Amino acid sequence: MAINPEIRLSNDPREKSADLRVASHPDGLTTATRRDAVQPDALDSPRNTSPGLRATPELLDELRAQSDSLEAATPAEIINWAVERFGTKLTMATAFGPEGCAILHMLADIAPHTYVFNLDTGYQFPETIELRNRLAHRYGIEVDLIRPEMTVQQYEAENGGPLYTTDPDRCCFDRKIVVLRKALLGKHAWMSAIRRDQSPDRARASIVAWDARFELVKISPLANCTKQDIWKMITDHDIPYNPLHDQGYTSIGCLPCTRAVMFGEDERAGRWSGTAKTECGLHSLGEVKT
Ligand code: SF4
Repeated sequence: MAINPEIRLSNDPREKSADLRVASHPDGLTTATRRDAVQPDALDSPRNTSPGLRATPELLDELRAQSDSLEAATPAEIINWAVERFGTKLTMATAFGPEGCAILHMLADIAPHTYVFNLDTGYQFPETIELRNRLAHRYGIEVDLIRPEMTVQQYEAENGGPLYTTDPDRCCFDRKIVVLRKALLGKHAWMSAIRRDQSPDRARASIVAWDARFELVKISPLANCTKQDIWKMITDHDIPYNPLHDQGYTSIGCLPCTRAVMFGEDERAGRWSGTAKTECGLHSLGEVKT
């Protein structure tokens, strides 16, 4: 899929209109329908505990139809739709992979005040945290680092050592899934940066679907993109990215569970290498196919 060449980088506040046009949806959600309509003052707290969406038959029908109609859309058009449809109830999770950086680049132009967070397990590479700061400097988007209740030291003391060696599923659950659930409370939709060509599981991802696992709508604007599309966008727009990618790390997660890949290996071969584990559980498909 070609990436929209019209995507512009602009953080000039003079270009940001505060004009809002609001529309009501059957679920009662009021959404903003202008670029940059999500204003900081209107942002919900990330710990917002207001009721979430319910997967009514009407909503599922809407999501299916919308997903089908967005199959031919550009990533920017999909993000635009998500912002218009869900307004301040939209959020984004990023691990600062190249795809996430590409979405942040687009979000900076479309809706820079969207709440974006990272699951900071305590085991991330220093380069990843440093990238968070470079993106903040470039785009003005301060990605919130959300942490588990226990520090790494407390967690390892409680479990008699690091669980990533003995029980990585439990470690991912405690330090990612539990934290993600809290971060999504009160939100109606979240954006992920997965691509269908990353894995057989991800190949089944819809552009828009009900995420039954976390009970909100999941939007994947890059589902139809290839790795080449993403890197072309990064190169064309000089988007900040993790320097570890230049050292053979094609997919970057936590430091203890990530290695560089060899020539010819799958791009996710360096994640939990030597184990049967391929996903941390965030993107294991819990979609409702309607
Ligand atoms: Fe733990 Fe590894 Fe999962 Fe990170 S990727 S949460 S260190 S098991």
